[in-house]
Amino acid sequence: MIAPHHDSISKVLANHDAFVAAGAKAIDQHGCYPLLVGIRKDALVGNVRRICQRIAPRTLCAVMKGDAYGHGVQLIVPHLIPFCSRAAFVDNCEAAAIRAAAPEIKLLRLRVGTTTEIAGAMRAGWNVCETIGSHEKAQEINEVGAHTDTLINVHVSLDAAGLGRNGLPMHDESELHKIFLSLLGMTHVRVASVGCHFPDAADSNAADTSDATRNALERFVALVRGMRPRFDEFGRPPPEISAYSSASSCAFGASGVIERLGLHCFDRIGNSLFGLTSTAKHPEDGTRQVMHAATTVCDRIFRRRGSTIGYEHAYVVSDRDGLHVALLGIGWSSVGRYYQGLGKTDRPAYVMNSCGGIHRLLGRQSMNIMTIEASDEAGRGLKSGDIVYLTTDYGESVEAPTVSRLSVLMGGVQTEFITSLFGGSPSSLRFVF
Ligand SMILES: *Cc1c(COP(=O)(O)O)cnc(C)c1O
Repeated sequence: MIAPHHDSISKVLANHDAFVAAGAKAIDQHGCYPLLVGIRKDALVGNVRRICQRIAPRTLCAVMKGDAYGHGVQLIVPHLIPFCSRAAFVDNCEAAAIRAAAPEIKLLRLRVGTTTEIAGAMRAGWNVCETIGSHEKAQEINEVGAHTDTLINVHVSLDAAGLGRNGLPMHDESELHKIFLSLLGMTHVRVASVGCHFPDAADSNAADTSDATRNALERFVALVRGMRPRFDEFGRPPPEISAYSSASSCAFGASGVIERLGLHCFDRIGNSLFGLTSTAKHPEDGTRQVMHAATTVCDRIFRRRGSTIGYEHAYVVSDRDGLHVALLGIGWSSVGRYYQGLGKTDRPAYVMNSCGGIHRLLGRQSMNIMTIEASDEAGRGLKSGDIVYLTTDYGESVEAPTVSRLSVLMGGVQTEFITSLFGGSPSSLRFVF
């Protein structure tokens, strides 16, 4: 049997001390939670600056749906708003949180609202630009406006990518024209912007003239150009244009296609703000992960050769001298059921100590306790009370548990699924550092 390592992990990661200090303060204020989710302010602001520089003269519409992809609207709004021309949300609770912190910012609802949501936003006086994708919805909003004698801004979405969920169909140009004429004639609706959404642009090649997304984009621009004179005829100000989200903004943002309309354009960016697209095919270069999640080691135990660890005896200790195991006080009920699979299969998964050292997950993980190898590759041993990162882009290791790597390990789930799990977990305490 080897002597157990009881040397403490010395802290060398830049930002680790700031993370721990802010986490301790948050625990003092809000109580103890096993999952510490730190929102890294300098990464967020750095990402936003970089995105704004790249997309200029188009402006930034920060997408904060899903409680800002799990990062927490309240936490991030104060740092983002100074850089944005508008903020986008989906649920009314997100709109309330944005409005509380930013009374002036223009608000855009990213999907078609229900009648109750739209009326609720009206009553609250949030001045929301509501998305419409059908003539019926426009009529409904016009009636709400007439009822309260208010002019309601709308964002007309065209279903350019054929998603079949958010926009007017584009195949019948004369039908689309008729709908626009009707919209422009409505007394309590104003068409503030026209947009489309290409969420699958990751595989696109902007330079290829036969690229499907590029063609859809060209068609979108041609249709809007055809509609443009009608705005003047009706004495309405020209609409603003919004075609890009993170992936399409990176893939097509430099192509100048939508700028040809000569109208103000804004990009709707979510994932890139949080540093979740740096490894994509069309990356937002130089962005950093904003969410860093960590937990504390509960105990360190020893298991001899031949012992099994975790459910289904999936992991068998093969080390001649046995193995030290560190226990973490979270599990897949805290960080999502996909963690259940990690360690059960041959897929490797890791956590990182405050020195940048990597620890393997051992065996199938359970509901609220995780088992990891106590030593990292340099032989540094974790002990009770040490902090390990479950997701972070600290350090250079190719095994560092970044959100993008976890997404691959979890079977290719969307990166925002992971940040939503960590940020939205009832076990987590979120704070800014
Ligand atoms: C979510 C969403 C976006 C932002 O997408 P990202 O890929 O996260 O940048 C943009 N537009 C619409 C309509 C959306 O629903």
